[in-house]
Amino acid sequence: MDQSIKAYIRQLVQEAVQQSASSLSNLPSSTGRKQYVIANWKMNKNIKETLEFLQQLKEGTGVEVVVCPPAPLLYPAKLYVQGQNKEIQIGAQNVHQEDKGAYTGESAANLLKDIGCSYCIIGHSERRQYAQEDDATVNQKAKQALKRGLTPIICMGETLEQKQQNQTEKVLTTQILGAMDGIDVSQVIFAYEPVWAIGTGESATAEEAQRIHAYIRAVLAHIDKRNAEKVSILYGGSVNENNAQEFAAMDDIDGVLVGGASLQVDSFQKIIAVFAKGA
Ligand code: PEP
Repeated sequence: MDQSIKAYIRQLVQEAVQQSASSLSNLPSSTGRKQYVIANWKMNKNIKETLEFLQQLKEGTGVEVVVCPPAPLLYPAKLYVQGQNKEIQIGAQNVHQEDKGAYTGESAANLLKDIGCSYCIIGHSERRQYAQEDDATVNQKAKQALKRGLTPIICMGETLEQKQQNQTEKVLTTQILGAMDGIDVSQVIFAYEPVWAIGTGESATAEEAQRIHAYIRAVLAHIDKRNAEKVSILYGGSVNENNAQEFAAMDDIDGVLVGGASLQVDSFQKIIAVFAKGA
């Protein structure tokens, strides 16, 4: 699609969402939406550390726990949790958009599915930055993941500069419309991860995150009114055992994507406990 048409559509959606205050407040609360606590280990841990972590980790009632280790650890991690009958899902940190071929170093969606992955993170800001993934790539990857039975966890978020220039809603609208072109909203999970909050120790406030999550849901409602209310939208960015409760208390925050604090089993377990039913 022509860039100017894309920009025009984004503008229309953004204005409509912003003008219609009711679309932000009339959507139902998180009751009934699936809750997730997802570990993004990035390029950390070896096989011994992985198995020790999974041995100690306990699932939580009413919350989907997903661990996303580096690619070589996906299969041993899956074998381990399966062997122990643990209700812990394994997710990949990336997936390639093509079925197969000459793509050195990449992982195909059908292979990830084959070795037991259920989820894959797509469009993480680190990959957008150093692997130059844009919204079109994110869209292709999400389509490919869905085709092969993986649930995409689509990441989005603004940089500090964009936030300071009051561009957050504009950036998110562009990212959502680009990522979701031709995709069924009800089949994916979103993670709002402000880039300035990732790995910095400076998270968004829970109120700030709630406002943005409600905005994301309102944009999704423009794409698919019926399903927007059912979509899980996670927050990510310096979540830890001390601030997780504040995020969990928010209506439109349906779980968290955790980097640094997911590397220690004790802190990750405490975050799971916050989102578990009856916590
Ligand atoms: C992430 O990388 O997805 C992330 C949220 O990292 P951290 O929790 O360390 O900010």
